[in-house]
Amino acid sequence: MTETQPAVLILLGPPGAGKGTQARMLEDRFGLVQLSTGDLLRAAVAAGTPAGLAAKSVMEAGGLVSDEIVLAILKDRMADPDVARGVILDGFPRTDGQAAALDALLEGAGQKVTAAVSLEVDDAAMIERVSGRFTCATCGEGYHDHFKQPRRDGVCDKCDGTAFKRRADDTAETARARLSAYHAQTAPLIAHYDAKGVLERIDAMGPIDQIAGALGQIVGARSA
Ligand code: AMP
Repeated sequence: MTETQPAVLILLGPPGAGKGTQARMLEDRFGLVQLSTGDLLRAAVAAGTPAGLAAKSVMEAGGLVSDEIVLAILKDRMADPDVARGVILDGFPRTDGQAAALDALLEGAGQKVTAAVSLEVDDAAMIERVSGRFTCATCGEGYHDHFKQPRRDGVCDKCDGTAFKRRADDTAETARARLSAYHAQTAPLIAHYDAKGVLERIDAMGPIDQIAGALGQIVGARSA
């Protein structure tokens, strides 16, 4: 890419919209770094850090972890050297407070948001998508009980791994709570980025490759 500042791409969208899948594809294609606050929080929970201990029950209930905890974790990660290549923010910001903190952080570094992409999907389909998904424990390839089983029973298509895992919060009940949190606290950010002139919308109900193509065009055009 030829831009003078590293790209800062935000992926907005409810749980199940494909933010993580698309972020990983953009990482491979553009050399950007995926920064998922959900992944960072799950790592903190697994490591048993004070932030992880505080976040665990909120995440299990499908609520939003406090801005204070999320911002501390995000700022730590943003200080890592690889982030200078440009980032895809996956699942952040999720509240007004987080968006304001991100604006201030970027302004301090002389940067701005390259694009905020809203992945637009149907609520009912999201519950079904989220509640059936699982991943290869070795390489992270994503699968689904109804939509995408491994070709060989119990063996990952990509790496031949045989262990799979499901997120504790990928149940129908928790998915409904996460969707409510999205509509109440995160969807209003679409207007925030629209007002800044950086909003793009993509119909994210279609095939993964088609959505990746649309996102690739946005990154290419906005980074030129
Ligand atoms: P995700 O992996 O993005 O679906 O996030 C999983 C869970 O982590 C969410 O349901 C929240 O409980 C928590 N979480 C992730 N990112 C944030 C954020 N930016 N703000 C608050 N909570 C978050």
